[in-house]
Amino acid sequence: MNIILLGPPGAGKGTQASRLVHERGMVQLSTGDILRAAVAAETEVGRRAKAVMDAGELVSDEIVNGILSTRLDEPDIEQGFILDGYPRTAAQAEALDRLLAEKGKKLDHIIELCVDEDSLVDRITGRFSCCKCGAGYHDRYKLPKIPELCDVCGAEDSFRRRPDDNEQTVRNRLAEYRSKTAPILPFYEAKGIVSRIDGMAPIAQVSAAIEAILER
Ligand code: ADP
Ligand code: ADP
Ligand code: ZN
Repeated sequence: MNIILLGPPGAGKGTQASRLVHERGMVQLSTGDILRAAVAAETEVGRRAKAVMDAGELVSDEIVNGILSTRLDEPDIEQGFILDGYPRTAAQAEALDRLLAEKGKKLDHIIELCVDEDSLVDRITGRFSCCKCGAGYHDRYKLPKIPELCDVCGAEDSFRRRPDDNEQTVRNRLAEYRSKTAPILPFYEAKGIVSRIDGMAPIAQVSAAIEAILER
């Protein structure tokens, strides 16, 4: 099973993808995570992407399509993949179609997480994650069971906030989503594989709604 989780920044894509990884053994393909790793490693791609990401703008299609193409060459995608944060533009959606056709793969579901935009700033400015294992948390909606200790890997003092998770950048990211990403939905609707779910429900309920779609 290969799926895309679509939705604005803070909609819950990463949270839901990580559950699917743990419970279904699927692999999460997050262009945001790959780009952040490139920035941290100070690679050529990382150097080109850093300022764009800090400003909340989209990295060029050429860079992200290249990243995704390389990632799709790895054998673990046979376990089924979840695209989280890609595609984000019409050119990326078209590139994805071509890449998947070349590899003999298809998309089974596009799941759109529908959220109330006013809540996204709150979701994103309260977000933090474990730098050891990537587990995601929130100041109010998903606190670790023991403060300063990661529920998933047990690391202590490993929580980090992203530099782009501030209000001004979030507003730019939302504007990018509205103008460049939301318009790709009709492209997938024409294929008849789009499902919409309420991303404002509690995390467990969103997970249950995704399961119901995958079981269909
Ligand atoms: P995205 O990957 O779409 O940007 P995340 O999965 O990182 O979004 O979620 C953004 C923040 O909101 C995180 O701090 C996460 O813990 C929290 N969150 C995710 N889903 C929900 C939900 N259904 N209800 C409340 N908070 C949520
Ligand atoms: P979120 O889901 O919280 O918006 P991501 O981790 O998916 O954040 O992306 C963080 C940043 O990385 C984006 O604001 C953008 O600069 C860059 N990025 C990630 N994926 C893409 C993509 N598919 N196309 C262009 N830029 C991307
Ligand atoms: Zn951890």
